[in-house]
Formats: sequence, C-alpha cells, structure tokens
Amino acid sequence: MRNSEKKHRMRNDLILIALTVSLAIAIGLSLYFLREDGETVRVTVHGETFGVYSLTEDRTVEIRSEEGINRLVIRDGEAFVEHADCPDGICAAHKPIKRMKESIVCLPHGVVITVEGKAADGSPDLVV
Ligand SMILES: [Zn+2]
Repeated sequence: MRNSEKKHRMRNDLILIALTVSLAIAIGLSLYFLREDGETVRVTVHGETFGVYSLTEDRTVEIRSEEGINRLVIRDGEAFVEHADCPDGICAAHKPIKRMKESIVCLPHGVVITVEGKAADGSPDLVV
C-alpha cells in the first residue's frame, strides 16, 4: 500500500505543476491581449517628436507637416485622426487608439501617433 501512496503524492505534485504552468501561461496571455491602457500619445513627424499629449485631457491638435495637415483628436481617453488631407486617408479611417504601443501611421505625411505610458522618470516629458 505504501507504494501506491507514493504514486498518489507524485500525481498530486504533477497536478500542482500543471496548474502552476497553466496559470503562468494564462497570465502571460492576458498580459499580451489585455495590454494596459497608455497614458500619453507621442506624435512624430518624419521621426522627430512633434509633441506628447496626455490621454486624460480632451484636446484637438493640428499636426502640420510640409506635406499637409492631420487633425488629432483626444477624447474620452482615446486618440484618433479626425481629419487629414493625405491622399490615402488611411490614418483618418483608423480606429481610435488607447492601449500601449498602438499607433496610427500616416505614410504620406510621415506622421506616426503612438500610445505610450508615463515618461521613464515619472514626469511627463514635453507636454505641449
Ligand atoms: Zn494620412
């Protein structure tokens, strides 16, 4: 009977390991799919930072580049391009972004709008 007891305990250990591993996988997946909301959006024009704006404050920003205008709107914690005079209009058709690392790109204008977290030092850098 002692032998089967040992077996029993080993099976419990295996179940525990399996549970731990699947829990770790579940956490990893949820972190991947439920990415946290960002706090700011960074706008760059041809790779140069145009401005960094808080997602918590509603505002409209006219992003003027040599190629044209993109009107960025921040509302209810989301950012989207309300209007753009680029030829393809892909940026204006993009759904609103708010999660970390999401971005809207306007290739014709060289404009990239990316959701970011707080600045690394904890203070908002260059909030215009
Ligand atoms: Zn565009």
